Amino acid sequence: MTDYSEYIESCEERLKDKFALIDKIAFANQSKVLNAFQNNKIALRHFAGTTGYGYGDEGRDCLGKIYADAFHAEAGIVSPHLLSGTHALSVALFGLLMPGDTLLCVSGMPYDTIRPVICGDNIGSLKDYGVKFECVDLKADGSFDFNAIGDKLISGNIKVVYIQRSRGYELRDAFSCGQIGEVCRFVRQSGFGGCIFVDNCYGEFVEEVEPTDCGADLIVGSLIKNAGGGIAPTGGYICGRQEYIDKIGRRLTAPSIGLEVGSYEQGYRYFYQGLFMAPHTVAQALKCSLLIGLAMTDLGYKNYPSIDKMPYDITRCIEFGDADAMINFIREVQYASPVDSFVTCEQWDMPGYDDQIIMAAGTFVSGASIELSADGPVKPPYIAYFQGGLTYEHGKYALAKILSKLKK
Ligand SMILES: *Cc1c(COP(=O)(O)O)cnc(C)c1O
Repeated sequence: MTDYSEYIESCEERLKDKFALIDKIAFANQSKVLNAFQNNKIALRHFAGTTGYGYGDEGRDCLGKIYADAFHAEAGIVSPHLLSGTHALSVALFGLLMPGDTLLCVSGMPYDTIRPVICGDNIGSLKDYGVKFECVDLKADGSFDFNAIGDKLISGNIKVVYIQRSRGYELRDAFSCGQIGEVCRFVRQSGFGGCIFVDNCYGEFVEEVEPTDCGADLIVGSLIKNAGGGIAPTGGYICGRQEYIDKIGRRLTAPSIGLEVGSYEQGYRYFYQGLFMAPHTVAQALKCSLLIGLAMTDLGYKNYPSIDKMPYDITRCIEFGDADAMINFIREVQYASPVDSFVTCEQWDMPGYDDQIIMAAGTFVSGASIELSADGPVKPPYIAYFQGGLTYEHGKYALAKILSKLKK
């Protein structure tokens, strides 16, 4: 392998101001998380597992409280029984919406796996239960279409306004909390009294504030992305206003028991430790994203967010315009992994997606995309979505491999 260390050092020099800002954000977020631990007097006993009904499971209850505290929310559900981001989003939506209600999405069509939850046919979707769905597309420049949102808000029985923070498999950039705050204010000023709901996947700890600091009532995400710090083995979180958390808790379990039950014999240490690590881990992932982004830009591949900007989520999309280059990039990410490095990635019909997806995830936690990973649908214009990195050094190591392949 050619030695790219000098080139990579020159990239780091060009990125040093952004890296310094990322360190500053990580410190602010680490402080928030530590305050949450201390305010709730977290002790060794909170890590202990429980069995059966799990009545009085302090580890479970306090976990919800510290996530809520760190996100400046009133209450939270954090559970290994939320199986993924999609499941957390689905439970939250079903908890909030009743037949005859309308869900209004203001950030364009939601992420691929959420679409069937909302409007699938005869699969027990919200639509099948009689929940209506309205969607406002983003404007051509990727910004919120306030006029169209205003028009939708005065019509229909809208109970939930849904905002997706990260890009998903779209070409737009993630929204900043500033932009999310602007749309929240607009929605409130229009007289909306329901729940402003944010799909916060990939956005946690990227800025010093979260959507809950900027007017959102509820944030939802996955613990095998940012919020689990690379340590949580599974799970999701839902944090926000108490009244909504209570409703969703009755949906997560049963209407009669809500959040009073739920046990987990393996214990909760990984979840606590994951939240503790998350601000730092997210900073590592952001640095990996900027480093790879700069190098891909130098190679002539368009990629987003522009490396002149601070990123608002940990993902980076890279347009290859060519199937081979895309597939080679993804395979190199896999070959650079600590786990399954000997595997050559192939595209497949991944559950929940319409297109064939190719995915590099040589991860300790299966499929965890807070770990260095890359994926994308194999179709023109051949865009790979790169994200994660538990350590910045891993990103550097992977970049050297990618450069030696793509420069050939
Ligand atoms: C990943 C993701 C989801 C779904 O999370 P899973 O854990 O993969 O089910 C939802 N929304 C966005 C924007 C995502 O990036």
